[in-house]
Amino acid sequence: MRQLAIFGGTFDPIHWGHLLIAETALNQVSIEQVIWTPSFHPPHKKAAEFEHRLAMLQLATRENSAFTVSLTEVNRGGNSYAIDTLINLSALYPNTHWYWIAGLDTFQTLPRWYRRHELATMCDWLIAPRLLSGENIAQSESICKQVEKQLEKQLVTIRWQILHTPLVRVSSSLIRNLCRERKLISHLVPEEVRYYITAHNLYSDESE
Ligand code: ATP
Repeated sequence: MRQLAIFGGTFDPIHWGHLLIAETALNQVSIEQVIWTPSFHPPHKKAAEFEHRLAMLQLATRENSAFTVSLTEVNRGGNSYAIDTLINLSALYPNTHWYWIAGLDTFQTLPRWYRRHELATMCDWLIAPRLLSGENIAQSESICKQVEKQLEKQLVTIRWQILHTPLVRVSSSLIRNLCRERKLISHLVPEEVRYYITAHNLYSDESE
């Protein structure tokens, strides 16, 4: 049985934090492929056009043959629900043990996800620690245990492990803010992504 991981997100834009997490998953869990699934209509977020987010994702991942970008969310349209993504990808890649990659902030919201009972049994969770308010790896682990307990109360059992990534304080919102302030982002995103942002005048006040 092959092992594949899904990495969902808005990727507005993709940054080094995302790439570091995906690389760590490949190394830590002997996953064959990370399937990046950019959300078409991110819930609760106003995001750049899907075409731009997709183009930047493709540019940043093209050199790693273990990275695939999936259009499953576009083809489906409507809301982006993890369960639908997993069902669609399971049909495309049968006989697979699935992992779902998420940052700690995303994982904390799992007890409210749509059809989490089914989702939980269909994949293992790989959690990237994230500096939310100064956590270290040990604190990230205890936050994950709290999430596990909340889900147990809902009779949902999950399997999870922490990804051993260095904590990096980078986020797409930081990059968007720096662009708006016309500050440098070259240390936060791959060069091709920085170039794309400049060429398409993304995240400047004029582009909104
Ligand atoms: P924004 O700042 O707009 O909220 P983001 O940087 O969180 O964006 P997303 O595309 O929303 O980027 O994130 C996709 C996934 O990657 C989420 O599960 C998120 O928690 C995780 N993630 C993003 N950046 C980091 C980081 N620096 N450390 C750990 N996890 C991260």
